[in-house]
Amino acid sequence: MCRRLLAVSTLLLTLSQGALAWDYEGHRTVNLLALSSLPRDFPAFVQNREARERIAFLAGEPDRWRNVPDLPFRHCGGPDHYLDVEDLSWTDSTLATIPEFRFVYAGQLALAKEKHPERFPSVDPAKNKDHTREFPGFLPWAIAENYGKLKSAFSYLKAYEQFGGTTVEIENARANVIYVMAVMGHYVADAAQPLHTTRFHNGWIGDNPHSYTTSKTFHALIDGDFLMKTGGFSLEALAKEEKPAHLVSKDPGDSRDPIFAAATRYIGQSNALVEPLYQLEKDGKFSPEKPQSKEGRAFLEGRILAAGEMLGSLWLTAWRDAPVDTWLQDILTKRASGR
Ligand SMILES: [Zn+2]
Repeated sequence: MCRRLLAVSTLLLTLSQGALAWDYEGHRTVNLLALSSLPRDFPAFVQNREARERIAFLAGEPDRWRNVPDLPFRHCGGPDHYLDVEDLSWTDSTLATIPEFRFVYAGQLALAKEKHPERFPSVDPAKNKDHTREFPGFLPWAIAENYGKLKSAFSYLKAYEQFGGTTVEIENARANVIYVMAVMGHYVADAAQPLHTTRFHNGWIGDNPHSYTTSKTFHALIDGDFLMKTGGFSLEALAKEEKPAHLVSKDPGDSRDPIFAAATRYIGQSNALVEPLYQLEKDGKFSPEKPQSKEGRAFLEGRILAAGEMLGSLWLTAWRDAPVDTWLQDILTKRASGR
């Protein structure tokens, strides 16, 4: 059985015991689908049973980080889960023009706030103790930065494997690859959920000419409640529809970092589905009791599949593009020769 088929079978065996939904289960699903999308020559140590469960478990890690009282940590981690694309207008930016450097963008925001305070919503300090509400979010940076960490981990793993690393060193490097692959999966899955890409993240706000829902339970409905009430995902069907991972394409017309640029395009695809998502809700397609709820399920399953494809492709690209860490290679070579 080829690795892809084997991986899908293991996935089904592991997950068929219970109904799944977005939230933690959705994140697990994306990471496992991405694993089974990888080609046969991808490093096999990520595919054994223990590694697969570790990668699935860690899909929920960044959400666990949100449940702590420590304000500096909440400040740094919270906005990594979303990007309110409409609010890029605060800095006269778009997805196509935001800089690939997180702190350059933060600086642009500070300058824009000084020059155009009227663009920025007033924030209730009591609800902003972690100082996150003045930011539209940092999701594409979280994806690109985690990609960098993964590529680095593959680079030093390659050096240890090829230039005399000890068994313990190689095991440690592999454990780091698994950790970073899994954690970055969380952000890639978040970006596929349209409500993580918009200021309308929990019910429509402001002018509402189409009378979209303003319910403050809408986000929870899409994240998990609807799927829980309609039987969870059909993993067998998802695995059959999943596309193989491919190298992330570079847009020659975009001079920014190619992975950051790809992340912004991917977020743009998700953001384009915000209004269709609200329209589906308006048409009763997220009402579990109605027959048309099948269309709501199909929509969410499509998002999970898109996330699995993007994540598998980012993992594959990081592995293929990672050069051997020459600094470490030099040290290992000297160590082997006793110099
Ligand atoms: Zn999240």
